[in-house]
Amino acid sequence: MGQELLYEGKAKKIFSTADSNVLLMEFKDSLTAFNAQKKGQFAGKGALNCKISTLIFKLLNKNAIANHWLKTEDENHMTVQKTKIIPLEVVVRNVLAGSLAKKLGRTDGEVLKQPIVEFYYKDDALNDPFVNDDHAVAMGWATEGQLDLMKLEALKINQILITLFSAARLKLVDFKIEFGVNSAGQLILSDEISPDCMRLWDMDTNKKMDKDRFRQDLGAVDEAYQEVFERISKGAAL
Ligand code: 5GP
Repeated sequence: MGQELLYEGKAKKIFSTADSNVLLMEFKDSLTAFNAQKKGQFAGKGALNCKISTLIFKLLNKNAIANHWLKTEDENHMTVQKTKIIPLEVVVRNVLAGSLAKKLGRTDGEVLKQPIVEFYYKDDALNDPFVNDDHAVAMGWATEGQLDLMKLEALKINQILITLFSAARLKLVDFKIEFGVNSAGQLILSDEISPDCMRLWDMDTNKKMDKDRFRQDLGAVDEAYQEVFERISKGAAL
């Protein structure tokens, strides 16, 4: 049902549809890291991320979190509301890891006293720099009201995801989400939510079950994504 290819990113393609307010999102099998300097893929990765994102968007709908998902069309395509993407990556952290652990000179794994919400400016050429609210408002990327709403929604989404993943014996370390504004002017969650954009550790062994397996050459990336899907589809109170 996709018509014209509007955008091809590292892990997804976006097509127009007959309805100008609806886009078709295709999940690709490719995996990239370090701003696409490292490239890989595995067969079925797009389908797994599509299934995991679908499960999460349905759960968020039940919890009244406005998002762009409309319908999953087949194994690696979903239709979504067209939005104008706010050029900020919203990162939520529960456990110290990745770039923040590095920046603070700490080792991964320290549980934070409270969740942190951070903004990064979406710009590959600049390596998505960390920015604060004042930067975002002064540069015209988002209004103060939109920033407040994104933080509020991000923290609500965090609680919903923690519940989902805890039931699957997975620790939600951190994740990245994106928001957009739809044709009605409503700010809604957009993009995808999958192991490509989060850190998930096995609750008992701390085994990494996400894209860090690819980033750090730990192997068995496909098995990890498959296991995440199996565990959350069994454990999810859907
Ligand atoms: P960090 O800042 O520690 O590198 O990443 C924090 C979290 O956000 C991790 O779960 C990471 O996967 C996710 N994240 C940060 N930037 C990106 C990005 O550009 N793309 C994707 N897919 N995830 C990101």
